Amino acid sequence: MTAIDSLPPLREVIARHDLRAKKQLGQNFLLDLNLTAKIARQAGDMSQCDVLEIGPGPGGLTRGLLAEGARHVLAIEKDARALPALGEIADRYPGRLTVIHGDALRIDPLAHLTPPIRVAANLPYNVGTELLIRWLTPPDWPPFWQSLTLMFQKEVAERIVAAPGSKAYGRLALLAQWRADARIVMTLPPEAFVPAPKVHSAVVQLTALPQPRHPADPAILSQVTAAAFNQRRKMLRASLRGLHPQIESLLEQARIPPTARAEEIDLERFCTLARALRSARQNP
Ligand code: SAM
Repeated sequence: MTAIDSLPPLREVIARHDLRAKKQLGQNFLLDLNLTAKIARQAGDMSQCDVLEIGPGPGGLTRGLLAEGARHVLAIEKDARALPALGEIADRYPGRLTVIHGDALRIDPLAHLTPPIRVAANLPYNVGTELLIRWLTPPDWPPFWQSLTLMFQKEVAERIVAAPGSKAYGRLALLAQWRADARIVMTLPPEAFVPAPKVHSAVVQLTALPQPRHPADPAILSQVTAAAFNQRRKMLRASLRGLHPQIESLLEQARIPPTARAEEIDLERFCTLARALRSARQNP
């Protein structure tokens, strides 16, 4: 393994600071610095960007991001045991790494970041999905971030990039693809992590679009997709019945057969339906 920096190998860092992985914090560490540098490269050119990293742990991905030239990394870590190891990285890259100890679900990082901002993280999967949904649903668009480079359980990654007609297609795909380009850029076997999780993982790269792919009111689009996919096996005229008394005619306006099921309908038609519903509600 080639050294990407002059710091000790991660196994040694983990042993020295007694950073045994804790299951309740979802800790599965990446120890191969060539791999973390490769993940960091997926984030694109970071030399003019601040990078927000959630859950740096012993700092494998942090080191990758810094070695690959990130202008500044803000890392938020819940586990106090990791702070001394992260302090050593901060010393190696003066002025380029800021570490905040706390829960990323409760901390607003924006006060500590200067745009443009990219986000990179290898997070516990439940925290990752919750943050992804928050990052995809800000009050205004474009969001604070230019790109998100995130490790997920492979099955969740597939749900993010899924196309209509597939089993994985649902609300997460629509939410992600409405206002971002989303693709899987790497897949990793369980053995890439210590300890090895039970499942394969994948890195998803999301790049924010300057504006939504198709116009729609976010709250109405969310209502439509929630109703459609909460009863995904039902025909849309039944699952969407509660949204409007004339739902069949609104479906027809959106070129959606009322007998179709949610998973057959692409993003553009869901947006058309959300617009039709909005104007029907405004002009009853
Ligand atoms: N990034 C490191 C790596 O790739 O080796 C660690 C990855 S490990 C899967 C997830 C990390 O997120 C752990 O260090 C854990 O302590 C941290 N973490 C878990 N929940 C968190 C939260 N709510 N806020 C911030 N960090 C959290």
